[in-house]
Amino acid sequence: MARDVYVVGSVNADLVVRLSSLPRPGETVTGGTFERHGGGKGANQAVAAARAGAAVRMVAAVGDDDLGAEAIAQLEAEGIDVSAVQRRADAPTGVALIAVDEAGENQIAVASGANAVLSAAAVERALAGAAPGGVVLLGLEIPDAPVLAGARAARAAGLWVVLNPAPARELPDALLALSPLLTPNRDEACALSGEREPEAAARALAERTGAPAVVTIGAGGALLADGGSVARLPAPEVDAVDTTGAGDAFNGALASALAGGAELEAAVRSAIAVAAESTRRHGARG
Ligand code: ADP
Repeated sequence: MARDVYVVGSVNADLVVRLSSLPRPGETVTGGTFERHGGGKGANQAVAAARAGAAVRMVAAVGDDDLGAEAIAQLEAEGIDVSAVQRRADAPTGVALIAVDEAGENQIAVASGANAVLSAAAVERALAGAAPGGVVLLGLEIPDAPVLAGARAARAAGLWVVLNPAPARELPDALLALSPLLTPNRDEACALSGEREPEAAARALAERTGAPAVVTIGAGGALLADGGSVARLPAPEVDAVDTTGAGDAFNGALASALAGGAELEAAVRSAIAVAAESTRRHGARG
């Protein structure tokens, strides 16, 4: 089994300052320490899929700058095919400026940069020749046009279409009509469906796409809505130290398992286990 996973999504540089307290508007707080990490939900998911054993191709855009070069090098070091990561002269690499205080509370300002100019044509080129049975994993830190192009190309070629609708925004009807497997977390599922409970949200989303839907519910595991019923698949109890990026680990591992030929429920169970394990380590790619 080829285990091909195409991740069509975002690549960012996360610039993190740890401080005693978060600055209020207009305030300067000194005495922080600085770290920088590879980030972007798409890139984090690609890393998780590669670590779970998939052959991963990242389809994305970064700037023609130092942060873009660094982001690409980090993906390459994970064994990810970066030949479809565009270097754009017209936009900088996406950046997340993250301030974290002693209690772990954070403040995040994002400039999406090159992620905002990833084109449908670039996605079509990257997916030309994709083999049936693989997975196209799509995220929403890029515009609708490349997401739609990725979903269409995947459908046409017989690949799974997995759409992690994060951050949540209204989805175009043309995209829902392609019956993507949606994988929101609880808050995103409620925002997308207008429901207040994750079970109802899972059911409503599955009805809208005509495909199964998966809603992750943190320490509770995940809900799988399929054919009118909703099953709760539990997560193992772990000593979670950092849940940042748990959803990205889940999506990458899910895509890898599906590309490896697993049935959906088995793939969700293995993604839950991988995501739970990731919370025992610090960092979004932990
Ligand atoms: P997100 O990171 O997008 O907010 P969730 O919080 O729903 O998503 O977490 C995604 C997955 O990570 C869950 O389905 C679960 O498998 C795992 N997970 C998250 N938090 C915990 C936790 N405290 N204990 C065990 N597993 C967890």
